[in-house]
Amino acid sequence: MARRSPGLRKRIGLDLFSKLYAAEVAEHELRTLFWECTLRCNLACRHCGSDCRVDPGVADMPLEDFLRVLDEEVTPHVDPRRVLVIFSGGEVLVRDDLERAGAEVARRGYPWGMVTNGLALTPERFRALRDAGLRSVSVSFDGFPEVHNYIRRNPHSYDRALDAIRLIVREEGLAYDVITCVTGAMVPRLEAFRELLLAEGVKHWRLFSIFPVGRAKNDGTLRMSDAQFRDMLEFIRRSRRLGGIEVSYACEGFLGRYETEVRDHFYQCAAGVSVASIRVDGAISGCTSIRANFHQGNIYRDRFWEVWQNRFGPFRDREWARKGECADCEMFRYCLGGGMHLHDDEGNLLYCHYHRL
Ligand code: SF4
Ligand code: SF4
Repeated sequence: MARRSPGLRKRIGLDLFSKLYAAEVAEHELRTLFWECTLRCNLACRHCGSDCRVDPGVADMPLEDFLRVLDEEVTPHVDPRRVLVIFSGGEVLVRDDLERAGAEVARRGYPWGMVTNGLALTPERFRALRDAGLRSVSVSFDGFPEVHNYIRRNPHSYDRALDAIRLIVREEGLAYDVITCVTGAMVPRLEAFRELLLAEGVKHWRLFSIFPVGRAKNDGTLRMSDAQFRDMLEFIRRSRRLGGIEVSYACEGFLGRYETEVRDHFYQCAAGVSVASIRVDGAISGCTSIRANFHQGNIYRDRFWEVWQNRFGPFRDREWARKGECADCEMFRYCLGGGMHLHDDEGNLLYCHYHRL
């Protein structure tokens, strides 16, 4: 079996990076603020880790509530130009006030972006969102039609997502990436899929692995075997050398010898360090990938900035994660127990990328 642990040179880099990360933790500058503006969705994807449905039984957060937090509890403490506000869901485009939300956020000086499945991104909607200051978009695109439509459970989802991608890649001055949740079925077809993306002019592609929570928990068709996981990382490594399209693996987890070879930087979980989220029910947490209860407060009870400043201890000091599989792991000093989204409500690790290798 190939060595999975990082070599000496990489360990020196990891040690240096750990010091930089510690400085970032101490600084605790808010740089990304997610607003989970809805849990409604126009799809019901098989791999969805969130609770979104056509009718999730949870009302969208009124825009005014989010703006109040921005105005009273964020803007006085930050330079808005340095904080990226990202609208996430559910599917953000089901909100018909998204343009107004974007315009209000932009009027306050914040750059803003969104994560979308692309299904409802018509040219008219895209133009209106750009006019409202949209600066960045991530579009989900999980593979060839049979794979994407199977996962998304909608026969039109592939065509619509591709239409959305075509709009986005042609747009000057817009930051974007295409994001792919890689299933076992896609691993042998990644080279061909990269060719398709290249032909469409895509320059930025981020790959995820599907984490077994939510609807994906009991669906074996979505997972990669350990060998496929390694193959995917090898594919990313090869693609990065080839150029033409910037390919990277998502933050997700520590990868040992693959560190810096499948991403531009060493692994880090920025949740709660420089990333905060306001969930649809007002809960204040780290990043929106976290499904467990790491909520540190709620905008309807607490002052956001006070929570960010004083209650984010579990995000900033991960010693609590040194238990179970992580207790004696020699990589803990670099990994700190993996991404926060990999833990359950009790803080137990659900999944270790490094040990899969
Ligand atoms: S066991 Fe824990 S500390 Fe070790 S690599 Fe896995 S997640 Fe990281
Ligand atoms: S919680 Fe997970 S997805 Fe979020 S920043 Fe950390 S590693 Fe990345």
